[in-house]
Amino acid sequence: MLDSPNSNVFLRILLVEDNPDDAELVLRTLRKGGYNLDSLRVDNEQDLKDALENSTWDVVLSDYSMPGFSGLAALNILKEQNLDLPFIIISGTIGEEVAVEAMRLGAHDYLMKNNLIRLVPAIQRELHDANERYARRIAEQTLRHQAYHDVLTGLPNRWLLRDRMEQALAYVRKKDLHMGVLFLDLDRFKNLNDTLGHLVGDHLLRAVADRLKKVLSAWDTIARLGGDDFVLLLPDIKKTSALEEKAQELLALFETPFELSGKSIYLDVSIGIAAYPDNGQDSDTLLKNAEATMYYAKAQGGKNYQFCSGDIQSATVDRFTIENELRVAIKNSELLLHYQPQFSLEDDSITGVEVLVRWQHPQRGMTPPDKFIPVAEDTGLIIPLGEWVLQKTVDDIARMREAGITLPRVAVNLSARQLYHHDTQDTLRKLMATGNLGSDVLEVEITESGIMQNPELAAENLITMKSIGVGVAIDDFGTGYSSLAYLKRFPIDVLKIDRAFVRDITLSSDDASIVKAILALAKALNLHVIAEGLETQAQYDYLKELGCNEGQGYMYARPMPFDDLLEFIREKRGA
Ligand code: C2E
Ligand code: CA
Ligand code: CA
Repeated sequence: MLDSPNSNVFLRILLVEDNPDDAELVLRTLRKGGYNLDSLRVDNEQDLKDALENSTWDVVLSDYSMPGFSGLAALNILKEQNLDLPFIIISGTIGEEVAVEAMRLGAHDYLMKNNLIRLVPAIQRELHDANERYARRIAEQTLRHQAYHDVLTGLPNRWLLRDRMEQALAYVRKKDLHMGVLFLDLDRFKNLNDTLGHLVGDHLLRAVADRLKKVLSAWDTIARLGGDDFVLLLPDIKKTSALEEKAQELLALFETPFELSGKSIYLDVSIGIAAYPDNGQDSDTLLKNAEATMYYAKAQGGKNYQFCSGDIQSATVDRFTIENELRVAIKNSELLLHYQPQFSLEDDSITGVEVLVRWQHPQRGMTPPDKFIPVAEDTGLIIPLGEWVLQKTVDDIARMREAGITLPRVAVNLSARQLYHHDTQDTLRKLMATGNLGSDVLEVEITESGIMQNPELAAENLITMKSIGVGVAIDDFGTGYSSLAYLKRFPIDVLKIDRAFVRDITLSSDDASIVKAILALAKALNLHVIAEGLETQAQYDYLKELGCNEGQGYMYARPMPFDDLLEFIREKRGA
């Protein structure tokens, strides 16, 4: 076999054989077959284990019975070590029956010592099969990895997280330990993604994943559930203060900006924390409660962490149903609009209304917007919902006119997501063209923080809105970071002072000076100012003295249905 296909093939042979002469015979046969050999002979359990541990082998050739050791015992050791090596028994004594039994136990072939003709072909075949098994194993591993990992970040996905949670739960239950689930969601990420593009969004998510990995210790898992949702699983928590420390560590990770193609992008994160056993006994419940708590953290303004509480737990049940039910709410005419009058601080006349959406849920009853607007923003449902609000508002303005009433201003809230979504411009253009509105009736309210998400695009879109006759109000003003210089770039008609400042204006000198500054700024820019959440006479007097133009709040009127509004206006106007 001089021109053997095996020439120069390098083979690492582990021989399990007590007889050196027999071993030499086997090796000679292989060399004749063209193989370059590296070999070791062992004849007891310990030596075999050492050999397997210390080196890599291509094939194991084993005698069947040896003094104090056997081929089957050797086979077992390979199995124990999870080694899938070709294992061929070479014996002088083996009978057919024993050989079949050995193969049943996992030996790949058997040969007689006195007839080694089949040795080389057997090894060729077994190496080939072993290669295929290896390739298949890798393919399966890759598939399994893909099934259990997030493609974008390489982090474990929802399914692997669930697996790990189940394992961890089994452990902590037995040991009477705690386990923490931290649900992370990036603040305003969806808007960044909409405005900067998905490629940038993907880069950011990867960068976030890399940072999050930094706080992992050996037993922790960080998973990405999709979108900008990440979950940190901390099994084996001894006290809840450890969870708090971890949450602080996570928040600190976001203090430095993310650098992307020369731009610094600041991201913040909201964290909801649920702990076993207090906030749930199983992985689904824990995850659901952690997520709900994250939404609660977001509602507190974002960039913070919250612990799950009984209140949040009961509120959550809704969150998931809300998403599904909201989808049909528009079609089922469950949404309706309330109107809250705005009034002049000079003569108490009604100057406009703010449109506030309500959801008359068939079972839950009247649901406040704080419960479903965030869900709508998150899921993108805000786009059809917002369109419905705009259309209905325009219809109602027409009905009002039919009843002989016109208003200088009807203000509709626009979410940041709507501000940046191109459909909104189209909708507004269509409504302004066909809605038969008087001049300057329709106004949109956009929060200061919404504008600051992408000031350039915001300015562009607001200029378009102005050009088709829509008024622009900045909502919740004073809570964002915009400066006087910034405001000049936007075509703004109205500033609405956030009700947080109005609330304590007569008590807190800080709040009073912020309001004074806003009023001075507004005067310089020739903007109209509306104080939100006006509840008391003291607030009213103070604001009036400072020169604030208008107010809106319970002291004048609460939000009310359309028919009540008509009556209210008639009464005010003495008609
Ligand atoms: P907002 O734009 O700041 O709306 C004013 C909120 O303050 C309203 O709450 C209103 O009922 C409440 N309010 C008015 N006067 C007073 C007062 O004197 N004291 C107090 N404590 N509160 C007062 P509401 O109706 O629950 O709306 C909450 C938020 O939901 C709104 O805050 C707005 O951001 C959002 N929202 C409401 N309708 C829509 C909508 O159609 N589209 C969008 N995108 N968001 C909406
Ligand atoms: Ca508003
Ligand atoms: Ca507001």
